Amino acid sequence: MLKTDGLRCWAQIDTDAIAHNVKEIQKLVGDTKVMGIVKANAYGHGALACTKALQKAGVDYFGVACLQEAIELREGNIKDPILILGYTPPTCFEILDQLDLHQSILSYDYAKKMNEWALENHTKLKGHVKLDTGMNRTGFLYQDGAKEKEELLDTWNMPGLQIDGIFSHFPVSDDLEKDSADFTRHQMDLFDEAIEEIKKAGYHPGLRHIQNSYGILNYQDRGYDYCRPGLLYMGVTSDDSVPVLSNPDFIPILSLKAKVSMVKTIPQGATVSYGRHFKAKKPTKIASLTIGYADGLPRICSNQDLKVLIRGHLVPIVGNICMDQCMADISGFDDIKEGDIVTLIGEDQGTTVTLDTITRLAHTINNETLTSITSRVERFDLAALNDQEKDI
Ligand SMILES: *Cc1c(COP(=O)(O)O)cnc(C)c1O
Repeated sequence: MLKTDGLRCWAQIDTDAIAHNVKEIQKLVGDTKVMGIVKANAYGHGALACTKALQKAGVDYFGVACLQEAIELREGNIKDPILILGYTPPTCFEILDQLDLHQSILSYDYAKKMNEWALENHTKLKGHVKLDTGMNRTGFLYQDGAKEKEELLDTWNMPGLQIDGIFSHFPVSDDLEKDSADFTRHQMDLFDEAIEEIKKAGYHPGLRHIQNSYGILNYQDRGYDYCRPGLLYMGVTSDDSVPVLSNPDFIPILSLKAKVSMVKTIPQGATVSYGRHFKAKKPTKIASLTIGYADGLPRICSNQDLKVLIRGHLVPIVGNICMDQCMADISGFDDIKEGDIVTLIGEDQGTTVTLDTITRLAHTINNETLTSITSRVERFDLAALNDQEKDI
């Protein structure tokens, strides 16, 4: 059990639920293995805690956005292969080598730089080749009318590179409209074609992976070696209102909590918070809460009737959300008092507010809501706390 006495604003991460979610993913992808994407501090959940929970669930490959995140995992004693999905400056190639990291090979030019560095330093740099089948962010172009086939094959021929995989990425796997579905399937066709070309030239393509979370939910796996979920093992998707073709039983792993710092009754006509946008129509009971936009509660959710849970009651946030605090109208609930726990995301006494509630009012996607929870918010790994208890 988490001791919440001294806490102001915190996130509870149910790392046990990760194992459940990985199982659900595994049901969808069959023999394809899971590469756990733990970039951006595992979307704010805590990279190391999530990586360890994923390891327990059988995940043996990890993806991060950048070198700094890979270093954090290695310093946390994660010895499994780690793929850096984004750009690493050539001045840092030495660290890739020292920490035995896999770098995404982002272009032909980039491959040449990696190769050159490796040869100069009498080593090999490991990597997965990124294929750009339509995202047009990074990768070797491999689209109709623009296929860097010669460049790809030449890259496989570079003696300074150890190419352990090839991958691509979906921009519209969340959209079931025919246009988007055709586009996504065509991306897989292009991916398959490139792999065939590589094989035909006598090279080994290595580990093949393309599916992100929506790819896993909406597309039949083509027997690739890995899939790359981030959100799904966290038990959520980007947007609850977007229809998907499979609906597994995922458990959201994050709850966001704060405290009631004060309760007072304000007279009719009084206003609440900066800007005075909420005006009491009658004597109104107000609770001040210990969370604000500097914790990651988006200010844009102000004055939009955002509901939070206190003692199982759904109560609206009123007035502007401040940097470190906000206020709720708790009229009619006499049991609410100073020190009570406030649930902004998660369950309380049988009632749940979903992550999507904040996301919808903030006009964004759950990915951004999660990664916007700031470092001031303490993260607690519930499974680790329970383990500690067992040890006592
Ligand atoms: C972030 C990312 C993923 C994971 O995306 P989700 O939608 O969270 O599953 C997979 N692949 C790449 C290349 C990414 O950048």
